[in-house]
Amino acid sequence: MIAMRVLIVDDEADVRELLTHQLQPHVREVRTAAGGEEALAILRGPNAPRIVIIDWMMPGMDGLALCREIRKFPVDKYIYILILTARNKPQDLVAALEAGADDYIAKPHDRAELVARLRAAERMIRMQSTLVDRQQALEVRASHDSLTGLENRAAILDRLDAEIDRCERDASPLGVALIDLDHFKRINDTHGHLVGDRALRAAANAMAGAVRKYDGIGRYGGEEFLLIMPGCDLTRCVNQAERLRSAVETMHPEELEGIRLTASFGVSSVEPGMIPDAESLLRAADVALYRAKQAGRNCVDFVPYTEVKNY
Ligand code: GH3
Ligand code: MG
Ligand code: MG
Repeated sequence: MIAMRVLIVDDEADVRELLTHQLQPHVREVRTAAGGEEALAILRGPNAPRIVIIDWMMPGMDGLALCREIRKFPVDKYIYILILTARNKPQDLVAALEAGADDYIAKPHDRAELVARLRAAERMIRMQSTLVDRQQALEVRASHDSLTGLENRAAILDRLDAEIDRCERDASPLGVALIDLDHFKRINDTHGHLVGDRALRAAANAMAGAVRKYDGIGRYGGEEFLLIMPGCDLTRCVNQAERLRSAVETMHPEELEGIRLTASFGVSSVEPGMIPDAESLLRAADVALYRAKQAGRNCVDFVPYTEVKNY
């Protein structure tokens, strides 16, 4: 049994019926389309088949044109294409493969051979899916911090660059906050590094739960985080930082057994129409963070971008 859906594309109802009859006992589900447009709609729809058997000669969009259309689909869901046709010269085979077909069967076909080829198709698709999954897992691992699950330093800085490009293009404001956990060394010294790790993770979770969906937060360094707030002027950035500050202060995760944790926030932002650079923006936020620490910690301070830019 092939645990996949198969789509049969043929303009002749008799052929569709015969193939359906032959394949039904061997595959999870057989669907049919009488032409290229109908096939594309099915392949773009929900629960789309990953294996397609296509007749070459069809009125309107022929089989090879359909192959070319399917090959424009994103590659993370590879569709296996089998061309079924009365044409059987070597140059036909070449044309079908070049149009994007994976396999080719001459009419009249043998049922057992067709089923065997579908099994090979299934193996190929499974292998491709495994590779895509692994690739995606690797991408997540490369861009995320394993302790907190937040974006890592490289990823959050890439995001900052992208947001700076956007704020230049759209003349929109952009804010950042540098966040540093207060007296964190003491927590490690008093309770040990493992409890310190748990506290770090809890703070990251609390902040991640308080950001808006357009914001980005990442682990900038040891117990420091970077929050990016696209479209926010200084007042909104300060309010947003205040929400995160309060989220850290008020969290009481059971596993922390009563340890109190707070964080200090340094905010900066660029006004619409300014052309910011990442380094100066981060420097302004860092100056603001230093002030917040000086002011007694567990608070938010800010420095407008223009103040630091001209130093
Ligand atoms: P301040 O309020 O001035 O920021 O004081 P602080 O103690 O937080 O500052 P300091 O920079 O002196 O110490 C930061 C501490 O954070 C020291 C370091 O061991 C700890 N730290 C950094 N990364 C990790 C981590 O991944 N896990 C644990 N457990 N501790 C970490
Ligand atoms: Mg620090
Ligand atoms: Mg600290």
